Amino acid sequence: MSATCPYCGESAAFLFHAQDENRRSTAEIFTYYRCSCCQLIFLQPLPSDLSAYYVGDYHAQPATESERAFHARLEAIKLAYVQRYARGKSLLEIGPSYGAFLHLAKQAGFVPQAIELDSACVRALNAAGIPTLQSAEPAQALKTLGQYDVIGLWHVIEHLPEAWDVLSEAARHLKPNGILVVAAPNPQALTFRLFKAHWSYLDAPRHVYLLPISLLTQVARQSGLTPILCSTNNAEARWHNYAAWRGSLINVIGAQRVRAALSLPQSAAQPRSLSSRLKARLFRLALRLLMLTTAPLEGTGQRGSAYTLIFRKAV
Ligand SMILES: [Zn+2]
Repeated sequence: MSATCPYCGESAAFLFHAQDENRRSTAEIFTYYRCSCCQLIFLQPLPSDLSAYYVGDYHAQPATESERAFHARLEAIKLAYVQRYARGKSLLEIGPSYGAFLHLAKQAGFVPQAIELDSACVRALNAAGIPTLQSAEPAQALKTLGQYDVIGLWHVIEHLPEAWDVLSEAARHLKPNGILVVAAPNPQALTFRLFKAHWSYLDAPRHVYLLPISLLTQVARQSGLTPILCSTNNAEARWHNYAAWRGSLINVIGAQRVRAALSLPQSAAQPRSLSSRLKARLFRLALRLLMLTTAPLEGTGQRGSAYTLIFRKAV
């Protein structure tokens, strides 16, 4: 089995079949290929309506205080990065979901704007005073906007069939000295090599691409941007390492069996027993111990589960 790379047009070999193990939105089987030239991993054929797979609580806000705290740590890490490299305060996020990062950035003095697909998120963001355009085609939506000091795509680029158009349009909409922040699952990750089609950061079919760092850097350079940071081992990446181990193990073992083993209640409304809380804590502890043993491998050679790339536009 082979296919043609949608980015460079070279031939691509069959990589694996995958299913929607993260959300079980469908029983369909999806096929991924890897380009022999640029190493892009891509889903083909693309489903005609990708929005059909963004089901259930995809854009839900964290349900519990501990989940909120877990996610808040990630947003704070992202903000610290932006504050370190940004030279101004205007900030556009593409695909912010319910906008946890934008709210935090606004509190820190940034002037936020967003482009988002989900209508409920768009309404909530606009109601909260964060101007948000609803669009499934961010490259087109960008053309109607001005220029920004910061444009961020956190775990969004891998969802977009026209990923390179979005990147080049984003580059055009940066002010001189502006920065583009791109974070995405890393196809060089140790966890991807181990879990392959079961890797939770594959997230078939919502992730239509896994983009190598080298390819993103090439597209950015062609758009006049210079790489100033590339990390798969910063605090944000280590957060994703934990999430990738957790999600992939659950995929391999089976979500129902994990829930049964941890004695988790069937719904969030049901109270959790002391034994289920203890088992969940033991599961997290076992994960941490597993990660301590793999950290030396994940922390080197760009083998973290996700990367953060920052590019700067020339003056
Ligand atoms: Zn290619």
